[in-house]
Amino acid sequence: MFKKILVANRGEIALRVIRAAREMGIGSVAVHSTADSDAMHVRMADESVCIGPASSTESYLSIPAIIAAAEITGADAIHPGYGFLSENATFVQALQDHDINFIGPTAEHIRVMGDKISAKDTMRALGVPCVPGSEGGVPDLDAALKIGEEFGYPVIIKATAGGGGRGMKVANSAEEMPTAFSSARSEGKAAFGNDEVYIEKYLTTPRHIEIQVFGDGKGRAVHLGERDCSLQRRHQKVFEEAPGPAISAEERARIGEVCANAVAKINYIGAGTIEFLYEKGEFYFIEMNTRLQVEHPVTEAIFGVDLVREQIRVAEGHDLSFTQDDLIINGHAIEVRINAETFPGFAPRPGKINAYHAPGGLGVRMDSALYDGYSIPPHYDSLIGKLIVHAPDRKAALARLERALGELIIDGIETTIPLFHALLQEPEVHSGDYNIHWLEHWLEQKF
Ligand code: ADP
Repeated sequence: MFKKILVANRGEIALRVIRAAREMGIGSVAVHSTADSDAMHVRMADESVCIGPASSTESYLSIPAIIAAAEITGADAIHPGYGFLSENATFVQALQDHDINFIGPTAEHIRVMGDKISAKDTMRALGVPCVPGSEGGVPDLDAALKIGEEFGYPVIIKATAGGGGRGMKVANSAEEMPTAFSSARSEGKAAFGNDEVYIEKYLTTPRHIEIQVFGDGKGRAVHLGERDCSLQRRHQKVFEEAPGPAISAEERARIGEVCANAVAKINYIGAGTIEFLYEKGEFYFIEMNTRLQVEHPVTEAIFGVDLVREQIRVAEGHDLSFTQDDLIINGHAIEVRINAETFPGFAPRPGKINAYHAPGGLGVRMDSALYDGYSIPPHYDSLIGKLIVHAPDRKAALARLERALGELIIDGIETTIPLFHALLQEPEVHSGDYNIHWLEHWLEQKF
């Protein structure tokens, strides 16, 4: 049993973990940069340690600083949240060397899935359907042009180390290949220190469907259905829901079983998400995230489970607290990501919150680290809150979302709240009839 968990993160996800720990009777340690001394996660944790200056490389990404904080406070486990060190195999290895438990998968699983080429190879071998494309890395332009001809344009060139929507370029024709190929490479190199790229058929009308899986590390695993995250801007999700409006119970059971079996076979431990593009009734694997996702609350809502509690439990060595048969979908949930950004320009606008009022009432959850008078520092991600609604069906969930957005007050800065008010006026959002490109087209036409 863990006595004290250090949360190697900030913002709403740090609160999420501290809350789960407290309900389990486990102590919590917050770490923070000098820019975050007044942050909510520092106030909410039992203890806190300043681990460095504002720059995340010197604080939230500093492995020695975080390990020192765990040793000073006597924390016996670390939860990484998402982002920062959550998918860093070196970090996980270092924790193991220091006898500190990591609440997440093994370094080896993180390494394999963090490289998109080896992830695809592994998944293919485990029977998971993948997007057609190059076998492994594509070394040069000649090879890239051959792949383009073989699979037919458009194709997408992707950095094997890519993430957060970076390191991806589309080529619509052989003429576009030289520029697309070299810019995907240089973006991969600049952002991730790795210029290896691979090529996939570019699907023109897919939905983004991801399957939540959970393993006990002892060969057992379950799936918790899908999330539809098709409303994206620059390959980044803004609106997520579960269950997916375009997925039938039979399709869910089929792809869910494939995913659960795959992670069971590799003795995967903890939460994971297997991401697919879904087009014309077929699923195509794109990547696996070996951590908790930003959008995990929609899954928690419809299944009535606490995924962070479950992560902690399996890291302590317990069996899963639910079987596949226990997992029954109840209703519909939607999450919207509220960013400190202008709308419709999406330019970051950190600043001081004059007034903050969170919505409430039946089926409403607001995960946010904001408070009255808080100053959002300019150094980090612009996500400042997640509004999650849960209702008996999709129509009721959309109505609840509109009602809750109407109650939400974030005064003093610009946010993306107007985006969601505008989206809720659109018939396609109500019918669920869109693919991953819909939002960008809509933004172009409307604003
Ligand atoms: P990241 O790790 O940067 O999030 P992913 O591989 O998960 O990258 O892809 C992110 C998004 O990029 C997908 O949700 C989808 O919108 C788009 N995308 C990725 N691969 C393809 C593809 N083969 N065809 C069409 N769109 C794609």
